[in-house]
Amino acid sequence: MQELATALAQRQADQLYRRRRTVAGPQGVELSIDGKTLLSFCSNDYLGLANDPRLVAALKDGADRFGVGSGAAHLISGHSRAHHELEEALADFTGRPRALLFSTGYMANLGILQALLGRHDQVFEDRYNHASLLDAAKLSGAKLHRYAHGDTTALAEQLATHTSGERLVASDGVFSMDGDQAPLAELARLCKQHDAWLLVDDAHGIGVLGKEGRGSLDAAGLGIDEVPILMGTLGKALGTAGAFVAGSEDLIETLIQQARTYVYTTATPPALAWATLESLRIARAEDWRREKLHVLVARFRAGTAELGLQLMDSQTPIQPLRVGDAATALHLSEQLLARGILVTAIRPPTVPTGTARLRITFSTLHEESQVDRLLGVLEEVLSSSKNQWPQKHTEAHGKNP
Ligand SMILES: *Cc1c(COP(=O)(O)O)cnc(C)c1O
Repeated sequence: MQELATALAQRQADQLYRRRRTVAGPQGVELSIDGKTLLSFCSNDYLGLANDPRLVAALKDGADRFGVGSGAAHLISGHSRAHHELEEALADFTGRPRALLFSTGYMANLGILQALLGRHDQVFEDRYNHASLLDAAKLSGAKLHRYAHGDTTALAEQLATHTSGERLVASDGVFSMDGDQAPLAELARLCKQHDAWLLVDDAHGIGVLGKEGRGSLDAAGLGIDEVPILMGTLGKALGTAGAFVAGSEDLIETLIQQARTYVYTTATPPALAWATLESLRIARAEDWRREKLHVLVARFRAGTAELGLQLMDSQTPIQPLRVGDAATALHLSEQLLARGILVTAIRPPTVPTGTARLRITFSTLHEESQVDRLLGVLEEVLSSSKNQWPQKHTEAHGKNP
């Protein structure tokens, strides 16, 4: 397998090699890594629930009630009362007739598109959609049309041109690597006009945006008539793991019958669903968690403006600092690490070439003083690596690469 070694060496030379860091304790804004305590700005635990004592207690209680393993797929004997209650709670939360649990967001997206589309159909996707939606399109066999990020004019042209079969438009609600929001109202209008289905993947909106954290659709005032298919994940703001699809009775029954990533996999541990019921309750009730995020994001944006840094156009807890090439992003990330701050460098192919970035994210559990510390260290690191730092002459902050 010499070819593998050669390819890996090339990846390393291109500054694209990725490494895992092993975290010793629980999730939180301070992480214990390699015996050091690092201040982290890169998790998706936006509401700070992943290590909430109430969730830990609910998981233990769930294990006492339901044991650990589910034992089988949902359609065999693995569908527990805990799963069922969580599905009902998620349907209520999203204001839709039904919701269906999947083991992960990745599997949910694969399952939705495979169940709903075939090779005579067409799928339209924003170029910056999450990898799982792109893979889902490939797996479905439908013809994939990608439109430029947020470009609804381009989408309208594609919808007018490619008219055969079923048509489905899929978009992230909040884009995971940019933090900006999809033009949902316009997407919904186009789908109505062209008689296409609309799927919104709200992995980064659920819990964070809208009333009670109901997500991007609630924030945009859109319901099931405008967006028939809503996918959300449980491993980000809700602090547990898994995903759900919410929609009509017929949509959910179709997925139960046909989505292969639903049918042919073991149900997740019921105790996990039990814990998620608790996190959903907390996420809905505790508005202060969302309000605190706004305060932190506003403080960070004001601070970076003072430093003369331009951030991307994001109102969400995802606040990337785009630096251009992969080597610069990696260098800055290492400099931050040397000063006790963990921010990962996001590089191609996760983002387009030339748009490598530090993806900075905030959690409710961050203190304002910690945001100030990040700003101070950023200032120090940027002034010491000035010649590598393209901030002043970069175009880098529009939406397109
Ligand atoms: C994280 C993410 C997923 C995948 O969800 P998992 O539960 O982590 O598999 C899907 N879509 C988007 C937009 C995401 O950010």
